[in-house]
Amino acid sequence: MPLAQCPICEKSISKRAYACPNCGEPDPFNSKVKFKALSYIFWIAVIVGGVYAFWTYGLPLLIDFVHDI
Ligand SMILES: [Zn+2]
Repeated sequence: MPLAQCPICEKSISKRAYACPNCGEPDPFNSKVKFKALSYIFWIAVIVGGVYAFWTYGLPLLIDFVHDI
């Protein structure tokens, strides 16, 4: 497994460690923070895509629907 230095105690620990086994530092490589940023970007893409789909497909349909009344 890939090893990396713990930023707190500088011991070699697994990069996938969720806590340093030597000093007990939780999340020494900020893997949870990275995951949060990724899901944040994912949701922004979903929202932007949804708004874009609404403006290009939903809005003309809505305008047609309103005109029919
Ligand atoms: Zn450590």
